[in-house]
Amino acid sequence: MHLPLRRAPFPANMAVEVDPAPVAAPRLIALNDTLAGTLGLSPDWLRSPEGVALLSGQARIEGVPAMAQAYAGHQFGQFVPQLGDGRAHLLGTLSDNQGQLRDIQLKGSGPTPFSRRGDGLAALGPVLREYLVSEAMAALGVPTTRALAAVLTGETVWRERPQPGAILTRIAASHLRVGTFQYFAAREDHDSLRFLCDLAIDRHAPAAREAENPVRALYETVVAAQARLIAQWMSLGFVHGVMNTDNMTLSGETIDYGPCAFLDVYRHDKVFSSIDRNGRYAYGNQPKLAGWNLARLAETLLPFIDPDDDRALAWAQEALGRFHTLYHEAWLGFMRPKFGLTTQEPEDASLIGALLDIMEGEKVDWTLSFRRLSRSEPLLDGPSSETLDRWMTDWQARRARDTASADSQMALMRRSNPAVIARNHRIAEVIDAAERGDFSVFEALLERIRQPFDDDADYETPPQPDEVVQATFCGT
Ligand code: AMP
Ligand code: MG
Repeated sequence: MHLPLRRAPFPANMAVEVDPAPVAAPRLIALNDTLAGTLGLSPDWLRSPEGVALLSGQARIEGVPAMAQAYAGHQFGQFVPQLGDGRAHLLGTLSDNQGQLRDIQLKGSGPTPFSRRGDGLAALGPVLREYLVSEAMAALGVPTTRALAAVLTGETVWRERPQPGAILTRIAASHLRVGTFQYFAAREDHDSLRFLCDLAIDRHAPAAREAENPVRALYETVVAAQARLIAQWMSLGFVHGVMNTDNMTLSGETIDYGPCAFLDVYRHDKVFSSIDRNGRYAYGNQPKLAGWNLARLAETLLPFIDPDDDRALAWAQEALGRFHTLYHEAWLGFMRPKFGLTTQEPEDASLIGALLDIMEGEKVDWTLSFRRLSRSEPLLDGPSSETLDRWMTDWQARRARDTASADSQMALMRRSNPAVIARNHRIAEVIDAAERGDFSVFEALLERIRQPFDDDADYETPPQPDEVVQATFCGT
């Protein structure tokens, strides 16, 4: 098959040409046929030995070298001037059936000059986790990188214990990160920053090209996209876990699924990641930290925002200030439908906040509670409380004032409150089974998360106390 893959447009200081590592016995364990189709790639070909060679990093394409991209980043608040793709290879770019450019990247495909002390590999568990969670997010309508395929490498990866090695093929609108800009800002390399701005505008903010100052317009586009993204995460109870600046995209797609998780029991300060000791990236901190990351992005763009430093800073502060307003509006935009509301009233935020307080006090499951609301079922397993009854009366009064009919409110709620998410204990079951060579549990969960708004008595059930996953790991 002719592969419509093009070389990524990076000069040598932005990405290093490096081949993926040889693997002992590549075996395809998952292929996203639908996604392959949108990329103009034949699923049958991807399943063939040639296709599996591509997906395991064994194919060499004339004129399209694999590359590891350079980036820096603030990790838990500390600036690291050089991170880069230490276990990922960008294979190239292609146009999807909408004419949008997409990056194809392998993750877990061997060491690169950016590997530092890492082995460049990925274990099966984290690969399946990223596959499932990114596809769950896509099914929920969240902007995200996608999973095209997963292969077992036949190699052993040494973590706390020996694990099967695997490679994920990921598709992204781009791999431009806040940290990519920071890398060149730290080196005061304005030409490279200008190049990155042009690339980001082409891919993610084409309208900015026409603006009086395209870089300002780019920044505004990124701020708006991130405000919307984080609001959507919050509405779904998603905790990214490692919102370092190198894990935040210019495209507004969710990227780098490591120790991420969907909330079971709702707690505003919930942390899953075993490495997030101070709770920097707790559920409730995500909007604030997204703003912090966007401030770091603004710093890299100042020279292009205005030749006068003070004016550049003043403009950036104002643009960043809009993040919190945009976030709040976007949050309401995602939350109102969860309550069946189609109109806007000034008190909506406090009505919504009041239920969240009750949910937190009652220690109920985030996803199931909203699904119960949309089925007119009691929220609590035990007897209701006076506070909850009072809230229900307020909510009914609010719904009565809404212009949508009761039926269409219910329908709206059913398509805004998923029944099935990629629950942590389910992912743990998938990984356990897969490490024993049984991929049927993975396939069953994958099929279910693709229809998140269909009721499913089995998959919507929260974990039993002994099934609750307390901590998630990067697995790197
Ligand atoms: P992440 O936690 O995935 O955002 O990765 C943070 C940084 O560590 C990136 O520069 C990665 O490329 C690098 N990294 C993570 N795991 C490995 C590994 N197994 N080998 C080499 N580099 C790694
Ligand atoms: Mg990362």
